[in-house]
Formats: sequence, C-alpha cells, structure tokens
Amino acid sequence: MNDEIFRPLTGNTFQFSCHKGISCFTECCAKLRLALTPYDILRMKNRLGLSSDQFLDNYTETDLTLHWRFPMVRLNMRDDEKRTCPFVTPDGCTIYEDRPGACRLYPVGRAARLDNAADDDNPRDKFFLVTESHCLGFHEERPWTLEEWLNHEGVSKYNAMNDKWLKIVGSKKGLGPQELIQKKLQVFFIASYNLDKFRSFLFQGRFFDRVAVDQGTKQAIKDDDEALMDFALDWLKFSLFGEKTLTTR
Ligand code: SF4
Ligand code: SF4
Repeated sequence: MNDEIFRPLTGNTFQFSCHKGISCFTECCAKLRLALTPYDILRMKNRLGLSSDQFLDNYTETDLTLHWRFPMVRLNMRDDEKRTCPFVTPDGCTIYEDRPGACRLYPVGRAARLDNAADDDNPRDKFFLVTESHCLGFHEERPWTLEEWLNHEGVSKYNAMNDKWLKIVGSKKGLGPQELIQKKLQVFFIASYNLDKFRSFLFQGRFFDRVAVDQGTKQAIKDDDEALMDFALDWLKFSLFGEKTLTTR
C-alpha cells in the first residue's frame, strides 16, 4: 500500500467535501482501473436500460490479472486524452444514483477481509482514506464520521450485496478436478456478471428438474434481479465448491 496516498482513518473521522464548485470537480473520474462487482453491474445496466450482454460489451472488459483465479470485470475508460469514465460529464456523474460502490465510498477505501479459516459470514472491514493530490476535498471544512459518510453515500446496501460475492471470490476452497476448472470459471462469469444469461439458463433448460426450488423462490428469481443475484451466489457456492446451498432432486 502506498503510504503517501493511503492513510489510516484515525478516530474514524475525517474532513472532506465534494461539490460542483470545487476546482477539481470530476478529476477523480478518469484513468480508473475499476473492478465492478455483480451488484455494481446490476445497478448500472438497469439504470442504462441495457441487457447484461449489452452492458458488458459496451462498457467493460474482462481482466484475468486482478485475481489469482477468478476473472474480474473492469469498467472501460473512454479512449480520450484523459481516459475519462464513460459516465462523466462536466456536470458530474450521469448515473450518480447507481454509480459503483467504489465511487460511492471514495475518498474512503475499504479492504474487505475474509476469514476463510472460520468460514464465517462476516468479512472484516478495514477502512482507510485515499488522499490523492488532485483531490482538493480534504481542504474543505466539513467534518464526517465514517458512519455518517457511509450512510450519506448509500454504501451499506452495496456492501451487503457485495460481501456475499466477496466471500466466494475470497474463498480458498479448491475447484475440484483440473478438467472441470475451465467450465467452472465460465459458470462463475455468467452467474456473477451476466444475470440475464443466468436467468435464461435457469428457465430455458431443465435446471428445475434437477434442483429443488420452491415456487415462491422460483417466482422471485424470475421477477426480481436482486433475488436472482442471491440465488446465483448460492448456485456458485454449490457448483464451484460443492457447498450444500441447494438441494438436488
Ligand atoms: S461511474 Fe460516475 S462517479 Fe464513478 S467514475 Fe464514472 S462518472 Fe465518476
Ligand atoms: S477529486 Fe475529490 S473533491 Fe474533486 S471531485 Fe473528485 S472526489 Fe470531489
């Protein structure tokens, strides 16, 4: 970690303000290597009225270097001189209410720590400040506690959805025989990032002949993207690691 930029959140308080009048406005929305979570993608593609395929094709690329075994999806920057985010304008973020979790949290960063040994449900939070030189918000005199900031930026919902996925990504459980791994990585990609394709896989094939799912859950995953995402994460635990999150018939 670069100690010059990343600073501890001493006392869980900091001083910061970001607003349209500040001279660095939108400077932070460029040259990002921003990995998107499934929930980020869900919110953004619905905001834009796009299918999962359209969103992935138009705005992202797959990065095999960000994680030791799972493919990650990164938001593509524009091909302009400053390599700006595709959603930034002089007036700010055009998808502000549905911007990714990392954008909401900034200038706070979060390292979600997963306790694999205990295999529990509580990723360990560790927050820090990202004090980049272009960001003048730290010179403004608005005090925040960490909790106030998280509430103000609507981070809690994102963290709750992301933590279930981070637990899978952070697991050190084996993926089984070598010959199955490529197939499992494809399953990971579709269930994580392409919920439309995952829904088609469930409803257009014989999935429900082989896996017992009650009628209420079946209806929910048909109608509701968040319910579908929850189910996709159970499916990943089941199919990647053999966890007993689903019941076969
Ligand atoms: S999504 Fe919005 S907030 Fe995030 S980098 Fe792009 S323009 Fe900025
Ligand atoms: S650089 Fe900092 S203060 Fe400036 S717009 Fe971005 S977050 Fe706000």
